[in-house]
Amino acid sequence: MENYIVSARKYRPSTFKSVVGQLSLTTTLKNAIASQKLAHAYLFCGPRGVGKTTCARIFAKTINCLSPNADGEACNACESCVAFNEQRSYNIHELDAASNNGVDDIKSLVEQVRIPPQIGKYKVFIIDEVHMLSQAAFNAFLKTLEEPPRHAIFILATTEKHKILPTILSRCQIYDFNRISVEDTVQHLSYVATTEGVNAETEALNVIALKADGGMRDALSIFDQVVSFTGGNITYNTVIENLNVLDYEYYFRLTNFLLENKVSDSLLLFNDVLNKGFDGSHFITGLASHFRDLLVSKDPATLSLLEVGASIKARYQEQSQKCAVPFLYRALKICNDCDMNYRASKNKRLLVELAIIQVAQCLVEDDDVSGGRRPKKILKPVFNTESAQLSQSSTQSATQVQTATSAANNNSVASDSVSAYNVTPKVAGGSAPEVKPQSSTNAEKKIPTMNKSSIGLSIKSAPKRDEVSTGAVNRSSVASAAPQEDYIFNEKDINFYWQAYAAQLSKEQDALMKRMQLIRPTLLNDGVSFEVVVDNEIVAKEFTSLISTFQNYMRTSLRNSKIKMVVRVNEAVESSRPISRVDKFKMMAEKNEALVQLKKVFDLEFY
Ligand SMILES: [Zn+2]
Repeated sequence: MENYIVSARKYRPSTFKSVVGQLSLTTTLKNAIASQKLAHAYLFCGPRGVGKTTCARIFAKTINCLSPNADGEACNACESCVAFNEQRSYNIHELDAASNNGVDDIKSLVEQVRIPPQIGKYKVFIIDEVHMLSQAAFNAFLKTLEEPPRHAIFILATTEKHKILPTILSRCQIYDFNRISVEDTVQHLSYVATTEGVNAETEALNVIALKADGGMRDALSIFDQVVSFTGGNITYNTVIENLNVLDYEYYFRLTNFLLENKVSDSLLLFNDVLNKGFDGSHFITGLASHFRDLLVSKDPATLSLLEVGASIKARYQEQSQKCAVPFLYRALKICNDCDMNYRASKNKRLLVELAIIQVAQCLVEDDDVSGGRRPKKILKPVFNTESAQLSQSSTQSATQVQTATSAANNNSVASDSVSAYNVTPKVAGGSAPEVKPQSSTNAEKKIPTMNKSSIGLSIKSAPKRDEVSTGAVNRSSVASAAPQEDYIFNEKDINFYWQAYAAQLSKEQDALMKRMQLIRPTLLNDGVSFEVVVDNEIVAKEFTSLISTFQNYMRTSLRNSKIKMVVRVNEAVESSRPISRVDKFKMMAEKNEALVQLKKVFDLEFY
């Protein structure tokens, strides 16, 4: 292996034709050369490893070729071409601005600019990562760029176009390099594999291409890695294992579980994924991508957006037939919300599990809809609007009856969903029973708990036929057109989740838990802010520092992005509460001066 050359170098393209995935760009360059319309400066922009420097080199070689072929490519045989191919041409100068970004580096480059070429017509100066040049270097360079000698051509390359000064941009012809598509990458990798005598499954190469994310250089170096640990026999499974990629297989299986509403199987599968060392965030973004891929598979027009190999593509198409579009929208939203809340979440595992359950729930509902009970779908938001109005009205008793009936209905229709929900707090901390708000009217409190599960989890199960007749359909149909945004909630919901949060706190946070359990947050008049009233500044400080955590938790749990938390010190308590006996005496003495006299006469003391 002493002459081992990495594939990225060995298979570096030497002609425009062999550049992978940048066809329109290389064609434009070739045409410019053929028609002798060369600019003095080019800016090549694009992500790393997509062929910017390679194209710059091919460009330099081609414009200097003494006998270019009819195709507009360099001949690779003339004196100039040979010098280029052997990397000894004086007509090409490369500066990597990432490591040489000082004025002196630019000055020595500029020195070279003045000397005309001996063979060929042009000297090409390639400045890689040009955005890294120092301010002084930039200024020194700008002068040369303004009035370059005829024989000089600059090719500036950057991965960060937005960092290039407008003064440079306006002097360059700009070429934007694309990420190389998975299909192109796979094709090139299989060409390399064949040439190297390596056995490779197309699906395996597909995984490598996805992992490389549009960069051919990365793709080839991953390929080299995989070749070395598989001994030249690249299979899908070895790649999945060695690159720490979460298998499609999991998502196909999970989606099947969800389609059959197998909540426990889904949770076990998630557990399996965690045991393999993947984190929840990785899993949920992967799940979102899977739903996205299923969505684009449903329509032949968008099928091209699916960047997978042929056999996997067929599986996507097959599975997508089982999923209704509204379900996929909702599932995507749920996954996306979960992903957004992931970092702030205290109990990340539970968050992902809830998302899985939620997805399973909206599937159940979808089946209902496709089962011919169309009105249900239209009615879904009615429940939300309805209960919002009801809960905000002061006539509590009426509310209770309404929610009680719908909760009961709920229970019978989606008993699975409720029981599934009830499982989860146990996962959290085994303290689900404590969640129950401590109140004398226990029965009354229980009702909103059910209600909540219908709002938060089995989102679509709520609306009932008897509510159709109330005539609120109009409002609802407007609401149902848009994907569900913020869900309504009331003070009881806030309190429920407040206590639920407290209950899942760890032993180390015992003090916080006890404090939380004594607090009853109140909903403010704006309908989205809840106020937490505390006894003193110290506690206020503690809760204030936790505001964003609580807010995120409430937003996720109640599925409303506008929820705000406010902390207030109860001044009445703070100022009026007598602290010591001395204080008590002073207060009393203020009201009755005789007390002071009494103390004096009898020479009394406090203890
Ligand atoms: Zn040539």
